[in-house]
Amino acid sequence: MPQRILIVEDEQRLAGIVADYLQAAGFATDCLFEGTAVVSWVRSEQPDLILLDLMLPGRDGMEICRELREFSQVPIIMVTARVEEIDRLLGLELGADDYICKPFSPREVVARVRAVLRRAGGKNVQTHGLILEEATLKATLNGRDLDLTAVEYKLLAFLMAHPGHIYSRDKLMERMYADQRIVNDRTIDSHIKKLRRKINLLEADSEIIRSVYGVGYKFEPEESG
Ligand code: CA
Repeated sequence: MPQRILIVEDEQRLAGIVADYLQAAGFATDCLFEGTAVVSWVRSEQPDLILLDLMLPGRDGMEICRELREFSQVPIIMVTARVEEIDRLLGLELGADDYICKPFSPREVVARVRAVLRRAGGKNVQTHGLILEEATLKATLNGRDLDLTAVEYKLLAFLMAHPGHIYSRDKLMERMYADQRIVNDRTIDSHIKKLRRKINLLEADSEIIRSVYGVGYKFEPEESG
């Protein structure tokens, strides 16, 4: 049985192209061209993943995503026309699994769909020998101390707890400052830079903390198999 992808997209030509690529990659696809029918469709058909456009006639993608999350953990990839919107969406914590910005290449969509499905399956996720010790704020990589500051530790722990999820700088900042132990240096980028440098000291080619251009950061464990 192929996995079923629901494409919710009012630009029918675009939906058709994405459907073609996904089918060529071995998925089964269904398309809905407006927002009102999505929730009931998902309830009865239970697709394996949803590509959900933000701007839709009938009902917008945000509202749909929120309602779906009340009863379903189906992986959702939000699709939007603007990078700035992604930032706003991240701030709203809709529970989407990933975001794709238009214009996109259909190949990229296929790759993202595969990555999100793999993650949702929770198979073979390695954490690169990273071990975090909450009590002492100590992190080790393959048995060697990363020697992190409290802020770096918190950033790493937070990103690691949500693998693959992209967080904006603002959202990360908010998380760091909710914690009283954190000092008042407000530059997330510089903390991330130092954190990566420390990881790369022990593992030169590690890219477990990735920047997503114009959006933020995510923890991307390498997946095998
Ligand atoms: Ca649209």
